[in-house]
Amino acid sequence: MIEKANSNIKVNDSLVLKKRDEIMELAGKNFEKIYPILEKINEDFIVIGDIKTMTFKFPKILPKKIGLPSEIVENPYTYWKKIVHEKDLSKFKEATLGLIKGEYDYNDIEYRVKDIRGKNIWLKHKGSIIRDENGDPWLLISAISILGKQTNIDNITKLMKFTEFFQHFCEKLKNTRINNLGMMIIGVDNFKEINQLHSRQYGDRVLKMLANIIQYSLPEDICLYRLDGDNFGIILEDSSKERAEEIYLNIKSELKKVQILKDEKINVTISAGCAIFSRDKITYQEIYKFTIYSLMYSKKTGKNKIVFFSNEVMENKIRHFEILYYLKQSIENNFKDFEIYYQPQVSAQTEELIGFEALLRWRCEKFGSVSPNEFIPFLEETGMINIVGKWVLEETIKFFKDWLKIYPKLKISINVSCIQLMNKKCIPEFKKIIEENSFPVKNLILEITESSTIKNVKTLKEICKKIQDLGIDIALDDFGMGYSSFGILKEVHVDMIKIDRSFVKDLLENPFDVTFIKFIVEISKQYNIKVCLEGVERKEELEVVKSLDVDYIQGYYFGKPESKDETIRKHYKNLAK
Ligand code: C2E
Ligand code: CA
Ligand code: CA
Repeated sequence: MIEKANSNIKVNDSLVLKKRDEIMELAGKNFEKIYPILEKINEDFIVIGDIKTMTFKFPKILPKKIGLPSEIVENPYTYWKKIVHEKDLSKFKEATLGLIKGEYDYNDIEYRVKDIRGKNIWLKHKGSIIRDENGDPWLLISAISILGKQTNIDNITKLMKFTEFFQHFCEKLKNTRINNLGMMIIGVDNFKEINQLHSRQYGDRVLKMLANIIQYSLPEDICLYRLDGDNFGIILEDSSKERAEEIYLNIKSELKKVQILKDEKINVTISAGCAIFSRDKITYQEIYKFTIYSLMYSKKTGKNKIVFFSNEVMENKIRHFEILYYLKQSIENNFKDFEIYYQPQVSAQTEELIGFEALLRWRCEKFGSVSPNEFIPFLEETGMINIVGKWVLEETIKFFKDWLKIYPKLKISINVSCIQLMNKKCIPEFKKIIEENSFPVKNLILEITESSTIKNVKTLKEICKKIQDLGIDIALDDFGMGYSSFGILKEVHVDMIKIDRSFVKDLLENPFDVTFIKFIVEISKQYNIKVCLEGVERKEELEVVKSLDVDYIQGYYFGKPESKDETIRKHYKNLAK
């Protein structure tokens, strides 16, 4: 027994030894491959050095920050000792040389160095050595991080902040050797929702990851700054539009490769705005404003792309400002210019009216009727949706309250945006309005649109549960449009699915759409979820739809959204019969 145990140990030992040698050899061979990965996944600066040849590899960004001659440096100590603060020099020397000589295997020190602008920055430096088979120091691996002991470095991303960006840009504005000066601002798509749906800490981790990836993808001579919130900035010197686009696409492709946070795959996309002008024809304030407008335009028109400043961007911004102004005016004037239209929903079997969906309308003093697809995002981004959403609920239930005496089963659907639901006051306020108007909750449905950012299904689940606990049904709107429709369905119990009207549009030509609807109906039946099909416009479509066994239909064929008066005229009498 004993012998067996001993021999086992031997085998294991030699295995371990062999493995370590192999790993070391492998590490040496694959150094060029491993280093960039380490750089990407680590928020510290990783430095790897061969102690025997005293050749060290530094991350791209460090030479830019502290003025090292290049990424690969021989005998870096001769350079470091010039930039380390005199008060920290002996500590630095002892710790570094001790490690290189193999007096100890690990160090952890904090010291100040001068950056390229002559400013002192605090570094935290953790180093560890790997010894060769003779026990001599072979490789030195260090992680260096910038400590937030100075105000011009952002604590989360360790990037220079807005003030530095401004200062550096202004310096370049004075530099007569530069012809064209450009600015690019990169923003995280839906960052607000990422923060709201996960947590601030999660949002910070996303920013850190992005800072690393963007920095890694940028050309050597371009610095990255963290501006405010989720915005990162770069300054482009004598750069063309094509070059700027290339830089952006490069970041995007790197981002696609690495999107893992704590083993969890995430899907973050970025938008960018860019403006390039002749250096002597622009001020900082102007170019910053134009870049931000371009970024906003990118986000507004589909996100995940770069937009260059143009007349179109400017005109759009002016319209945006004006619409915001008029929206605010309307709200302050007791919701003047807002109106709610109601669109009938019918039973697919009997074609009888079963309910209405409330759809908001707004007539702008200047631009006339503006589509909700345009003004609702404005209400959402300013938070005005909270107050308007409450008004929609109150108006709608007041309008339909009396209808219930004649038709007690009528279901009234109201759209609520995710921004509203994220507001903690929303559900209690809804409850109060419903109670004050004595509207039976069983006649109410809240339509929730799957937002591309609702990845934290847990949050959605909790919100839905609170609503359902009040006795109100939930419909999942625009089903099939977002990529996580099924993911939500799996986790959150909804009472109804509203299949997006794009599936009806091509129903007659596209057999996939028919199969998709059939599939949804089948699943829904098993879980007792009702299915409403939106967008039926023509008789031929209705004929196909009827064979698909959906529960309800809503579409122009049975009625467009109409004003209160028209709704009464067309439907109230029918009900009263
Ligand atoms: P939605 O909730 O998917 O509403 C259905 C939209 O499809 C409505 O557009 C409606 O007019 C349109 N529609 C219905 N049947 C047909 C059809 O047969 N053919 C065609 N071509 N269209 C049809 P609308 O009224 O322009 O609303 C657009 C979106 O604005 C709504 O999409 C909803 O997401 C949002 N919205 C409207 N009112 C409110 C509201 O009070 N609050 C919130 N948060 N969002 C709202
Ligand atoms: Ca809806
Ligand atoms: Ca819909």
